[in-house]
Amino acid sequence: MTRVLVLNCGSSSVKYRLFDGAATLAKGLVERIGEEGGDAADHLAALQRIMAETDLDGLAAVGHRVVHGGPDFHAATVIDDAVVRGIEALVPLAPLHQPAALSGIEVARKLLPSVPQVAVFDTAFHATIPPEGFTWAIDTELAGRWQIRRYGFHGTSHAYVARRTAGVLGLSPAETNVITLHLGNGASACAVRGGRSIATSMGLSPLDGLVMGTRSGAIDPTVIFHLHRVAGLPIDEIETSLTRHGGLLGLAGENDLRAVLSRRALGDEAATLAFDVYTRRIREYVGAYLAVLGRVDAITFTAGVGENSPAVRAATLSGLEPLGIAVDPARNEAAAPIISPDGGRTAVCVVPTDEELEIADQSRAALGWED
Ligand code: ADP
Repeated sequence: MTRVLVLNCGSSSVKYRLFDGAATLAKGLVERIGEEGGDAADHLAALQRIMAETDLDGLAAVGHRVVHGGPDFHAATVIDDAVVRGIEALVPLAPLHQPAALSGIEVARKLLPSVPQVAVFDTAFHATIPPEGFTWAIDTELAGRWQIRRYGFHGTSHAYVARRTAGVLGLSPAETNVITLHLGNGASACAVRGGRSIATSMGLSPLDGLVMGTRSGAIDPTVIFHLHRVAGLPIDEIETSLTRHGGLLGLAGENDLRAVLSRRALGDEAATLAFDVYTRRIREYVGAYLAVLGRVDAITFTAGVGENSPAVRAATLSGLEPLGIAVDPARNEAAAPIISPDGGRTAVCVVPTDEELEIADQSRAALGWED
């Protein structure tokens, strides 16, 4: 019961990784699905291709990454028809992402009918956020009727990284408080108390919170009313602007942080401002989560930017020495798992994330194969 195929289905791609325990036996990406010259015509053809190229002998389970678990899916869940209907009912909350996951589940159940399938939700880890942390101060009746609340995303990554951080510090997860900073193309912060999420920066959708590659992160909602009413932009265009033409791309014309960094090194003003806005926003959330947690054992950077950019890590936490938070320059360059000087109150760590491994582990746990 150790072999698990993890599937991450996007609208035009399927990422897959086959695990035996923690070991990776195979992995790959089927891209440009449905496009001319793409790898596959649809999700069914994509999975057929994966099955043809991969030895699935002894496969015990398929773990599906599902973006939105809504208010009711609080943990990885073994899939049956009722669970599929539950995931379908959440399409309005994640119209861009949920249909692809559903399509992946449908074809995997069809092609691998005797293999149990598990849905692992990006939102589930945040089910422990208390009501005062997930409730917005809007009309309760409207919020209830339309399922409007903070859900949070990147949950598998925050869960995995918080647990690994405890390991790096030699502590048990249940006694460790961590602020995890997942900085990839998407980016979010999470306050984790004793292994449980108690606050996170993404909201009803992944648009809220930190500045991202192409997403604006948090803005005053009046910006939307203004763009609609005064600038005359239709609502779909505003959504596209904020989700696909915002963030680093909107500020500097580049969504890849590496390009922003190299232009900043040449003194480019827009790139410098983009970097400053990006890192200041992260610092604002760190400050908020220090206050929410009270005692913080570690602040951990992860994902593409967090794992690879000493400049972002240093700038994000600069000036926090009075709070017992500092980054040691040599350790930061080396991305040693602990990059703070010895003896500080709060360690600063760099821990590579592995969402697929966490999905495989949670899939086995959901099937009762692990304690
Ligand atoms: P995703 O959210 O798609 O999984 P990743 O976690 O791979 O994305 O993060 C992608 C981001 O990581 C990009 O903005 C990229 O510029 C950044 N990144 C990757 N390597 C480096 C690096 N060496 N220095 C700075 N940023 C990097």
